[in-house]
Amino acid sequence: MRLLLLGGTSEARELAALLVEAGVDVTTSLAGRVARPRLPVGRVRVGGFGGVPGLRAALADYDAVVDATHPFATGMSANAAAACTDLPLLRLERPGWEPDPAWYYVDDHEAAAARAAELGERPFLTVGRQELARLVPALGPLAVLARVVDVPDLDLPAAWRLVTSRGPYRLGGERELMAGHGADVLVTKDAGGTYTWPKMAAARLLGVPVVVVRRPWGPAGVPTVHDVASAFDWVRALRR
Ligand code: NAP
Repeated sequence: MRLLLLGGTSEARELAALLVEAGVDVTTSLAGRVARPRLPVGRVRVGGFGGVPGLRAALADYDAVVDATHPFATGMSANAAAACTDLPLLRLERPGWEPDPAWYYVDDHEAAAARAAELGERPFLTVGRQELARLVPALGPLAVLARVVDVPDLDLPAAWRLVTSRGPYRLGGERELMAGHGADVLVTKDAGGTYTWPKMAAARLLGVPVVVVRRPWGPAGVPTVHDVASAFDWVRALRR
């Protein structure tokens, strides 16, 4: 049984570890976006497949696919759903955060920027390098603190300050960072999970409002589980 695991998440790394231990021939696929990715155990391939046709061709080497990409990686999930017409496909997607009445949910990053500009003057942005450009028109003149894993390929407004780091984060550090900047609004995606949760807890403690970009819809009709153990069970059941 040869499994293709579409990764780039902590859940994908956890699943790879379980599968390797269980003797499954698993290959994790990474997009190659970050300079120094955390590598999972087992085989790893890096880089795009070349759209649906490229992925379809690559699938000749596999018996099943688990799409454990990030909830906001909708391009890859759509391609997996389109390409896996003859192969079993499972989506592993961590749940979103339990909504807090104090959070402002918006549908996209442009709306998040507009909302943040209404709520504060010193935003803390944690939406990822790829989305920063979408926030520049509304937040360009404000004293933004933007946190990313790798430096973006983008000329940032003069008033913006960039910090590079990678989770998991801790409450104390998040509180210090936000208070140090004087952040008066936090902007985040509904990533879910524990790695980036401490900033939400820090915002609550500091009384900082939070703007949350809602998750995009994934492809319809793909069987989905929300935890690593269930994905592991799915693979084990296929092997039998
Ligand atoms: P995306 O917009 O859904 O995908 C765009 C293209 O990147 C895909 O069509 C595919 O190229 C390639 N790609 C994406 N994920 C891939 C993977 N795991 N293996 C091989 N190729 C992949 O993806 P994204 O939002 O840029 O995310 C890229 C990666 O970062 C994903 O692995 C995701 O799990 C991880 N990640 C994303 C976020 C986020 O906020 N979006 C956060 C944390 C981690 P081809 O069409 O050429 O195959």
